[in-house]
Amino acid sequence: MSLFDLKGRVALVTGGNGGIGLGMARGLAAAGAAVAVAGRNRAKSEAAAAELAKFGAKTAVLEVDVANEASCRKVVADAAKALGRLDILVNNAGINIRKPAHELAYEEWKKVIDVNLTSIFVCSQAAYLHMQQAGGGKIINIGSMLSIFGAPFAPAYGASKGGCVQLTKSLASGWAKDNIQVNAILPGWIDTDLTQAARKEVAGLNSMVLMRTPARRWGVPDDLSGIAVFLASAASDFITGTAIPVDGGYSMQV
Ligand code: NDP
Repeated sequence: MSLFDLKGRVALVTGGNGGIGLGMARGLAAAGAAVAVAGRNRAKSEAAAAELAKFGAKTAVLEVDVANEASCRKVVADAAKALGRLDILVNNAGINIRKPAHELAYEEWKKVIDVNLTSIFVCSQAAYLHMQQAGGGKIINIGSMLSIFGAPFAPAYGASKGGCVQLTKSLASGWAKDNIQVNAILPGWIDTDLTQAARKEVAGLNSMVLMRTPARRWGVPDDLSGIAVFLASAASDFITGTAIPVDGGYSMQV
């Protein structure tokens, strides 16, 4: 069996119906995993699942609002029920509300923290029981360059993504004894709906990204496929609590 083989494994990807989530889901499906695609927009999730089925993957389409605790707990239970077990959880769903700190309303702050950070805690806690009983599992949390850097337009987003990395370490250190590896991916600037919106709202963003990224291009969702397979597979069994940039070199150069 290849180190990267995911046959017989079941993955749940929140926000797996588009952008980076779908890029990672494609990798997992191509490596043999069954994939539960979870999001708010059912039509988008169904289209994504149909695409994943072309890899021969078993799929499930699940609805979730990750801002809601009960919905997070339910989607984890639904994934395990629909596909028989749960080995891999990808906490990917995320949003940004781009405003300077002095203009960001309390409710906006809370929404971003709930969607991007609290959901990781709740979904991971719900997944833990399944993974512990199965003798192990893989949790992959999606951070950001804003896990490392600050930006004036992203106070809540930056706090949520910094928190994502620290939460990853706490979960990893607590659950290593259960053979559950918890790692974070820090995507650089990836061309998705999220960043198409950012390009409209943040003046000069496109040229800044092209100038500062040593690879001299935006990433595409499929740039995240390989790291997802690596962190979901036996190839990473002794790697836990890390935060791995996938950024064309953005974070290693001043
Ligand atoms: P997209 O906007 O393309 O995708 C966001 C996904 O999250 C969608 O699938 C959406 O599903 C889902 N989602 C959002 N809110 C909720 C919610 N309340 N409940 C359930 N699902 C939700 O963005 P990206 O693909 O770019 O972002 C994916 C992740 O990657 C995010 O965590 C983001 O912060 C992170 N990231 C992105 C970067 C980039 O450059 N694009 C860089 C660094 C990190 P639906 O439409 O069904 O609600």
